[in-house]
Amino acid sequence: MQLPVITKCVVDACAYNRSQTCHAPAITVGDTGAMVAHCDTFLVAPTKGGDPSTTGQVGACKVSDCTHNESFTCHAPGITVGFNMNGVDCLTYQSQS
Ligand code: SF4
Repeated sequence: MQLPVITKCVVDACAYNRSQTCHAPAITVGDTGAMVAHCDTFLVAPTKGGDPSTTGQVGACKVSDCTHNESFTCHAPGITVGFNMNGVDCLTYQSQS
């Protein structure tokens, strides 16, 4: 399957972010235990990382109550990541209820 592309991430402070684009090869969404769509790959580091020649994709998502989630895998065409309350979250999350 084609992994969902991270069409935009506004979290400049993340080591994988350059010009509001994610360059982690694949991110994981969702915190273990909590049913929230946090970006689990968010990282603050002294240097930038990832692969600047590619745009990040969603490798795994643990948020099983999202309408786009099937078998802990995201099937959205693309997602955006940004701030939600105090967290860095998948903003494409849509509750099934
Ligand atoms: S859209 Fe839903 S299934 Fe896809 S990464 Fe975001 S929370 Fe997970």
